[in-house]
Amino acid sequence: MSASGGALSRAKRIVFKVGSALLVDAATGAADRAWLDAFCADVARLRARGQQVVVVSSGAVALGRRRLGLTGRKSLTLPEKQAAAAAGQSVLMRAWEEALEPHGVGAAQILLTRDDTEVRRRWLNARATAETLIALNVVPVVNENDTVVTEEIRYGDNDRLAARVAQMVGADLLVLLSDIDGLYTADPRRDPSATHIERVAEITPEIAAMAEGANASAGVGTGGMATKIAAARIARAAGCATLITLGSRPAPLQAIEDGALATVIEAGASPAAAYKAWIAGSLAPQGWLTVDAGAAVALASGKSLLAAGVRAVEGPFDKGDAVRVRDETGREVARGLVRYDSADAHKIAGLRSDAIEAELGFTEGPMIHADDLAVGG
Ligand code: GLU
Repeated sequence: MSASGGALSRAKRIVFKVGSALLVDAATGAADRAWLDAFCADVARLRARGQQVVVVSSGAVALGRRRLGLTGRKSLTLPEKQAAAAAGQSVLMRAWEEALEPHGVGAAQILLTRDDTEVRRRWLNARATAETLIALNVVPVVNENDTVVTEEIRYGDNDRLAARVAQMVGADLLVLLSDIDGLYTADPRRDPSATHIERVAEITPEIAAMAEGANASAGVGTGGMATKIAAARIARAAGCATLITLGSRPAPLQAIEDGALATVIEAGASPAAAYKAWIAGSLAPQGWLTVDAGAAVALASGKSLLAAGVRAVEGPFDKGDAVRVRDETGREVARGLVRYDSADAHKIAGLRSDAIEAELGFTEGPMIHADDLAVGG
Protein backbone atom coordinates (compact mmCIF):
# COMPACT_ATOMS: atom_id res chain seq x y z
CA MET A 1 0.00 0.00 0.00
CA SER A 2 1.19 3.58 -0.66
CA ALA A 3 2.41 5.76 2.23
CA SER A 4 -0.83 7.75 2.05
CA GLY A 5 -3.05 4.68 1.84
CA GLY A 6 -1.31 3.23 4.90
CA ALA A 7 -1.66 6.47 6.86
CA LEU A 8 -5.37 6.64 6.03
CA SER A 9 -6.19 3.06 6.91
CA ARG A 10 -4.19 3.08 10.17
CA ALA A 11 -5.41 6.42 11.60
CA LYS A 12 -7.65 6.24 14.67
CA ARG A 13 -8.99 9.78 14.64
CA ILE A 14 -9.09 11.80 11.41
CA VAL A 15 -9.91 15.45 10.72
CA PHE A 16 -11.08 16.08 7.14
CA LYS A 17 -10.88 19.59 5.75
CA VAL A 18 -13.39 20.16 2.99
CA GLY A 19 -13.12 23.42 1.04
CA SER A 20 -15.75 25.53 -0.64
CA ALA A 21 -14.48 24.58 -4.09
CA LEU A 22 -15.57 20.97 -3.44
CA LEU A 23 -18.79 21.65 -1.63
CA VAL A 24 -20.28 24.44 -3.65
CA ASP A 25 -21.20 24.04 -7.29
CA ALA A 26 -19.45 26.97 -8.98
CA ALA A 27 -22.15 27.30 -11.67
CA THR A 28 -25.21 27.39 -9.40
CA GLY A 29 -23.78 28.52 -6.04
CA ALA A 30 -25.70 25.68 -4.35
CA ALA A 31 -24.26 22.77 -2.36
CA ASP A 32 -22.93 20.04 -4.63
CA ARG A 33 -25.04 17.23 -3.18
CA ALA A 34 -23.77 14.56 -5.55
CA TRP A 35 -20.20 15.13 -4.35
CA LEU A 36 -21.25 15.45 -0.72
CA ASP A 37 -23.33 12.26 -0.81
CA ALA A 38 -20.45 10.30 -2.31
CA PHE A 39 -17.98 11.76 0.17
CA CYS A 40 -20.21 10.91 3.14
CA ALA A 41 -20.49 7.33 1.89
CA ASP A 42 -16.70 7.24 1.77
CA VAL A 43 -16.51 8.64 5.33
CA ALA A 44 -19.15 6.18 6.57
CA ARG A 45 -16.97 3.30 5.33
CA LEU A 46 -14.10 4.52 7.53
CA ARG A 47 -16.40 4.98 10.49
CA ALA A 48 -17.79 1.47 10.04
CA ARG A 49 -14.30 0.08 10.57
CA GLY A 50 -13.92 2.02 13.82
CA GLN A 51 -12.18 5.22 12.71
CA GLN A 52 -13.35 8.45 14.36
CA VAL A 53 -14.10 11.41 12.16
CA VAL A 54 -14.25 15.19 12.54
CA VAL A 55 -15.02 17.45 9.57
CA VAL A 56 -13.87 21.04 9.09
CA SER A 57 -16.13 22.43 6.39
CA SER A 58 -16.01 25.70 4.49
CA GLY A 59 -18.79 26.89 2.25
CA ALA A 60 -20.86 29.17 4.49
CA VAL A 61 -19.92 32.38 2.68
CA ALA A 62 -20.31 30.85 -0.79
CA LEU A 63 -23.70 29.29 0.03
CA GLY A 64 -24.91 32.41 1.82
CA ARG A 65 -24.20 34.61 -1.20
CA ARG A 66 -26.78 32.70 -3.13
CA ARG A 67 -29.27 32.72 -0.28
CA LEU A 68 -28.95 36.52 0.09
CA GLY A 69 -28.94 37.26 -3.63
CA LEU A 70 -25.34 38.51 -3.61
CA THR A 71 -24.10 36.25 -6.38
CA GLY A 72 -23.73 38.78 -9.19
CA ARG A 73 -21.12 40.80 -7.28
CA LYS A 74 -17.39 40.30 -7.67
CA SER A 75 -16.37 41.13 -4.12
CA LEU A 76 -18.31 41.62 -0.92
CA THR A 77 -17.68 44.05 1.94
CA LEU A 78 -16.71 42.49 5.25
CA PRO A 79 -20.22 42.94 6.77
CA GLU A 80 -21.71 41.40 3.61
CA LYS A 81 -19.34 38.44 3.87
CA GLN A 82 -20.28 38.00 7.51
CA ALA A 83 -23.96 38.23 6.66
CA ALA A 84 -23.44 35.65 3.92
CA ALA A 85 -21.68 33.36 6.42
CA ALA A 86 -24.60 33.73 8.85
CA ALA A 87 -27.13 32.85 6.13
CA GLY A 88 -25.01 30.12 4.56
CA GLN A 89 -23.94 28.28 7.71
CA SER A 90 -27.39 26.77 8.23
CA VAL A 91 -27.59 25.76 4.56
CA LEU A 92 -24.17 24.14 4.96
CA MET A 93 -25.22 22.22 8.08
CA ARG A 94 -28.40 21.01 6.47
CA ALA A 95 -26.40 19.64 3.54
CA TRP A 96 -24.06 17.74 5.89
CA GLU A 97 -26.95 16.43 7.99
CA GLU A 98 -28.84 15.20 4.95
CA ALA A 99 -25.78 13.57 3.44
CA LEU A 100 -24.79 11.76 6.66
CA GLU A 101 -28.30 10.73 7.65
CA PRO A 102 -28.66 7.74 5.26
CA HIS A 103 -25.62 6.23 7.02
CA GLY A 104 -27.27 6.55 10.43
CA VAL A 105 -24.81 9.25 11.45
CA GLY A 106 -25.67 12.60 12.99
CA ALA A 107 -23.85 15.89 12.46
CA ALA A 108 -23.28 18.67 15.01
CA GLN A 109 -22.13 22.21 14.35
CA ILE A 110 -19.09 23.69 16.10
CA LEU A 111 -18.16 27.29 15.27
CA LEU A 112 -14.76 28.45 16.47
CA THR A 113 -12.69 31.61 16.42
CA ARG A 114 -8.94 31.83 16.82
CA ASP A 115 -9.39 32.79 20.47
CA ASP A 116 -11.29 29.59 21.08
CA THR A 117 -8.30 27.55 20.01
CA GLU A 118 -5.75 29.74 21.78
CA VAL A 119 -7.33 30.67 25.11
CA ARG A 120 -6.88 27.47 27.08
CA ARG A 121 -10.08 27.61 29.03
CA ARG A 122 -12.18 27.86 25.88
CA TRP A 123 -9.93 25.33 24.19
CA LEU A 124 -10.63 22.84 26.97
CA ASN A 125 -14.37 23.45 26.68
CA ALA A 126 -14.37 23.05 22.91
CA ARG A 127 -12.28 19.91 23.27
CA ALA A 128 -14.69 18.45 25.82
CA THR A 129 -17.63 19.19 23.51
CA ALA A 130 -15.92 17.55 20.53
CA GLU A 131 -14.99 14.51 22.65
CA THR A 132 -18.57 14.16 23.86
CA LEU A 133 -19.95 14.35 20.33
CA ILE A 134 -17.46 11.74 19.11
CA ALA A 135 -18.40 9.46 22.01
CA LEU A 136 -22.07 9.91 21.08
CA ASN A 137 -21.26 8.74 17.56
CA VAL A 138 -21.91 12.11 15.96
CA VAL A 139 -19.65 13.84 13.41
CA PRO A 140 -18.61 17.32 14.60
CA VAL A 141 -18.71 19.70 11.62
CA VAL A 142 -16.48 22.68 12.39
CA ASN A 143 -16.21 26.06 10.69
CA GLU A 144 -14.83 29.44 11.63
CA ASN A 145 -17.38 31.64 13.38
CA ASP A 146 -17.15 34.16 10.54
CA THR A 147 -19.93 36.38 11.84
CA VAL A 148 -18.09 37.53 14.95
CA VAL A 149 -14.46 37.59 13.87
CA THR A 150 -12.69 40.69 12.64
CA GLU A 151 -9.99 40.70 9.97
CA GLU A 152 -7.23 40.84 12.62
CA ILE A 153 -8.35 37.81 14.59
CA ARG A 154 -9.50 35.60 11.74
CA TYR A 155 -7.96 32.35 10.81
CA GLY A 156 -9.09 33.34 7.36
CA ASP A 157 -8.44 29.94 5.91
CA ASN A 158 -9.82 26.64 7.06
CA ASP A 159 -6.55 24.76 6.46
CA ARG A 160 -5.02 26.28 9.57
CA LEU A 161 -8.29 26.05 11.48
CA ALA A 162 -8.39 22.34 10.62
CA ALA A 163 -4.85 21.90 11.92
CA ARG A 164 -5.80 23.55 15.22
CA VAL A 165 -8.85 21.32 15.44
CA ALA A 166 -6.66 18.27 14.79
CA GLN A 167 -4.41 19.41 17.64
CA MET A 168 -7.41 20.07 19.88
CA VAL A 169 -8.99 16.64 19.44
CA GLY A 170 -5.66 14.78 19.42
CA ALA A 171 -6.19 13.49 15.89
CA ASP A 172 -3.45 11.36 14.37
CA LEU A 173 -4.31 12.32 10.79
CA LEU A 174 -5.38 15.56 9.11
CA VAL A 175 -6.66 15.13 5.55
CA LEU A 176 -6.67 18.31 3.44
CA LEU A 177 -8.89 17.70 0.43
CA SER A 178 -7.41 19.92 -2.22
CA ASP A 179 -7.67 20.82 -5.91
CA ILE A 180 -4.35 19.04 -6.51
CA ASP A 181 -3.23 15.52 -5.63
CA GLY A 182 -0.41 16.58 -3.32
CA LEU A 183 2.82 18.49 -3.26
CA TYR A 184 4.97 18.81 -6.38
CA THR A 185 8.52 20.08 -6.81
CA ALA A 186 7.00 22.89 -8.93
CA ASP A 187 3.51 23.81 -10.20
CA PRO A 188 2.67 20.88 -12.52
CA ARG A 189 0.23 23.05 -14.47
CA ARG A 190 3.05 25.33 -15.55
CA ASP A 191 6.17 23.19 -15.33
CA PRO A 192 6.19 19.82 -17.13
CA SER A 193 9.30 18.72 -15.22
CA ALA A 194 7.44 18.96 -11.87
CA THR A 195 7.50 15.69 -9.93
CA HIS A 196 5.11 14.50 -7.25
CA ILE A 197 6.33 14.08 -3.66
CA GLU A 198 4.79 11.08 -1.93
CA ARG A 199 6.18 11.45 1.56
CA VAL A 200 7.63 14.32 3.57
CA ALA A 201 9.46 13.34 6.76
CA GLU A 202 10.30 16.89 7.77
CA ILE A 203 9.20 20.32 6.57
CA THR A 204 12.55 21.68 5.39
CA PRO A 205 13.03 25.17 3.87
CA GLU A 206 13.15 23.41 0.45
CA ILE A 207 9.70 21.90 1.02
CA ALA A 208 8.33 25.27 2.15
CA ALA A 209 9.81 26.91 -0.98
CA MET A 210 8.19 24.29 -3.21
CA ALA A 211 4.83 25.03 -1.60
CA GLU A 212 5.25 28.73 -2.32
CA GLY A 213 6.14 27.99 -5.92
CA ALA A 214 3.25 25.61 -6.46
CA ASN A 215 0.77 27.91 -4.76
CA ALA A 216 -2.38 26.72 -6.46
CA SER A 217 -5.55 28.61 -5.63
CA ALA A 218 -8.88 27.04 -6.34
CA GLY A 219 -10.95 30.12 -7.08
CA VAL A 220 -13.85 29.51 -4.69
CA GLY A 221 -11.85 28.90 -1.50
CA THR A 222 -8.98 30.75 0.13
CA GLY A 223 -6.07 28.44 0.91
CA GLY A 224 -3.25 27.52 -1.46
CA MET A 225 -0.38 25.04 -1.05
CA ALA A 226 1.52 27.44 1.24
CA THR A 227 -1.35 27.48 3.76
CA LYS A 228 -1.53 23.69 3.50
CA ILE A 229 2.13 23.42 4.48
CA ALA A 230 1.54 25.95 7.28
CA ALA A 231 -1.31 23.72 8.48
CA ALA A 232 0.88 20.62 8.20
CA ARG A 233 3.51 22.33 10.34
CA ILE A 234 0.96 22.92 13.13
CA ALA A 235 -0.34 19.36 12.85
CA ARG A 236 3.15 17.86 12.78
CA ALA A 237 4.11 19.59 16.03
CA ALA A 238 0.92 18.20 17.58
CA GLY A 239 1.83 14.63 16.65
CA CYS A 240 -0.56 14.49 13.71
CA ALA A 241 0.32 13.49 10.13
CA THR A 242 -1.14 15.47 7.21
CA LEU A 243 -2.36 14.06 3.95
CA ILE A 244 -2.85 16.35 0.95
CA THR A 245 -4.99 14.85 -1.74
CA LEU A 246 -7.31 15.62 -4.63
CA GLY A 247 -10.80 16.03 -3.25
CA SER A 248 -12.86 16.30 -6.41
CA ARG A 249 -13.08 12.57 -7.10
CA PRO A 250 -16.41 11.06 -6.03
CA ALA A 251 -14.76 8.81 -3.42
CA PRO A 252 -11.45 10.54 -2.66
CA LEU A 253 -10.61 8.34 0.35
CA GLN A 254 -11.24 5.06 -1.42
CA ALA A 255 -9.06 6.37 -4.24
CA ILE A 256 -6.12 6.89 -1.88
CA GLU A 257 -6.49 3.38 -0.51
CA ASP A 258 -6.56 2.13 -4.10
CA GLY A 259 -3.20 3.80 -4.73
CA ALA A 260 -4.07 7.25 -6.11
CA LEU A 261 -1.38 9.90 -5.69
CA ALA A 262 -1.31 11.92 -2.49
CA THR A 263 1.34 13.47 -0.24
CA VAL A 264 1.73 12.47 3.38
CA ILE A 265 3.61 14.74 5.76
CA GLU A 266 4.65 12.67 8.71
CA ALA A 267 3.96 13.51 12.35
CA GLY A 268 6.72 14.55 14.73
CA ALA A 269 5.64 12.30 17.61
CA SER A 270 2.43 10.68 18.86
CA PRO A 271 -0.41 13.14 19.63
CA ALA A 272 -0.30 12.26 23.34
CA ALA A 273 3.49 12.72 23.57
CA ALA A 274 3.31 16.02 21.65
CA TYR A 275 0.50 17.24 23.91
CA LYS A 276 2.45 16.43 27.07
CA ALA A 277 5.58 18.07 25.69
CA TRP A 278 3.48 21.18 25.01
CA ILE A 279 2.19 21.21 28.60
CA ALA A 280 5.67 20.65 30.02
CA GLY A 281 7.55 23.05 27.79
CA SER A 282 5.45 25.68 26.05
CA LEU A 283 3.04 26.95 28.66
CA ALA A 284 4.05 29.41 31.36
CA PRO A 285 2.97 27.80 34.65
CA GLN A 286 0.77 30.04 36.78
CA GLY A 287 1.01 28.49 40.23
CA TRP A 288 1.86 25.54 42.43
CA LEU A 289 0.05 22.58 43.95
CA THR A 290 1.81 20.77 46.76
CA VAL A 291 0.83 17.11 47.03
CA ASP A 292 1.27 14.42 49.68
CA ALA A 293 3.48 11.37 49.22
CA GLY A 294 0.60 9.09 48.16
CA ALA A 295 -0.45 11.48 45.41
CA ALA A 296 3.15 11.83 44.21
CA VAL A 297 3.35 8.04 43.83
CA ALA A 298 -0.01 7.97 42.01
CA LEU A 299 1.18 10.67 39.58
CA ALA A 300 4.37 8.77 38.84
CA SER A 301 2.28 5.74 37.89
CA GLY A 302 0.19 7.75 35.40
CA LYS A 303 -2.89 8.46 37.55
CA SER A 304 -4.88 11.69 37.78
CA LEU A 305 -4.20 14.15 40.60
CA LEU A 306 -7.19 14.04 42.97
CA ALA A 307 -8.09 16.94 45.24
CA ALA A 308 -7.68 14.60 48.22
CA GLY A 309 -3.91 14.47 47.69
CA VAL A 310 -3.43 18.23 47.46
CA ARG A 311 -1.95 19.81 50.62
CA ALA A 312 -1.44 23.40 49.50
CA VAL A 313 -2.41 25.70 46.64
CA GLU A 314 -0.45 28.71 45.47
CA GLY A 315 -2.12 30.92 42.90
CA PRO A 316 -3.59 32.86 41.40
CA PHE A 317 -4.49 30.70 38.43
CA ASP A 318 -7.53 30.14 36.26
CA LYS A 319 -9.29 26.95 35.34
CA GLY A 320 -7.33 25.45 32.44
CA ASP A 321 -4.01 27.12 33.34
CA ALA A 322 -0.81 25.14 33.53
CA VAL A 323 0.40 24.69 37.11
CA ARG A 324 3.43 23.05 38.66
CA VAL A 325 3.06 20.18 41.10
CA ARG A 326 5.63 19.55 43.85
CA ASP A 327 5.94 16.97 46.58
CA GLU A 328 6.28 17.85 50.23
CA THR A 329 10.07 18.09 49.95
CA GLY A 330 9.59 20.86 47.37
CA ARG A 331 10.69 18.79 44.37
CA GLU A 332 8.72 19.47 41.16
CA VAL A 333 7.12 16.18 40.09
CA ALA A 334 4.73 17.22 37.29
CA ARG A 335 3.04 19.98 35.33
CA GLY A 336 -0.54 19.91 34.17
CA LEU A 337 -3.70 21.78 33.24
CA VAL A 338 -5.73 22.34 36.38
CA ARG A 339 -9.51 21.94 36.26
CA TYR A 340 -10.35 24.48 38.99
CA ASP A 341 -9.29 28.07 39.51
CA SER A 342 -7.06 28.77 42.50
CA ALA A 343 -9.91 29.94 44.78
CA ASP A 344 -11.89 26.73 44.17
CA ALA A 345 -8.75 24.58 44.29
CA HIS A 346 -8.02 26.03 47.71
CA LYS A 347 -11.52 25.14 48.94
CA ILE A 348 -11.38 21.52 47.78
CA ALA A 349 -7.73 20.73 48.61
CA GLY A 350 -7.74 17.62 50.80
CA LEU A 351 -11.37 16.74 50.02
CA ARG A 352 -12.45 13.38 48.67
CA SER A 353 -13.89 13.45 45.15
CA ASP A 354 -17.46 12.82 46.36
CA ALA A 355 -17.31 15.87 48.65
CA ILE A 356 -16.36 18.38 45.93
CA GLU A 357 -19.86 19.02 44.67
CA ALA A 358 -21.18 19.77 48.15
CA GLU A 359 -18.38 22.29 48.65
CA LEU A 360 -18.50 24.08 45.28
CA GLY A 361 -21.94 23.29 43.91
CA PHE A 362 -20.32 21.57 40.89
CA THR A 363 -17.50 19.23 40.11
CA GLU A 364 -15.02 19.07 37.26
CA GLY A 365 -13.61 15.73 38.43
CA PRO A 366 -9.94 15.42 39.45
CA MET A 367 -7.76 18.45 40.16
CA ILE A 368 -5.67 17.54 37.09
CA HIS A 369 -6.71 14.74 34.76
CA ALA A 370 -4.04 12.17 33.84
CA ASP A 371 -4.42 13.13 30.15
CA ASP A 372 -3.44 16.71 30.99
CA LEU A 373 -0.41 15.83 33.14
CA ALA A 374 3.23 15.79 32.13
CA VAL A 375 5.08 13.89 34.84
CA GLY A 376 8.77 14.24 35.70
CA GLY A 377 9.33 18.01 35.60
N1 GLU B 1 -15.12 29.96 6.79
C1 GLU B 1 -15.27 30.24 5.40
C2 GLU B 1 -16.63 29.71 4.91
O1 GLU B 1 -17.18 28.82 5.45
C3 GLU B 1 -14.24 29.59 4.52
C4 GLU B 1 -12.79 29.77 4.81
C5 GLU B 1 -11.94 28.85 3.89
O2 GLU B 1 -12.47 28.32 2.93
O3 GLU B 1 -10.76 28.62 4.15
O4 GLU B 1 -17.16 30.19 3.93
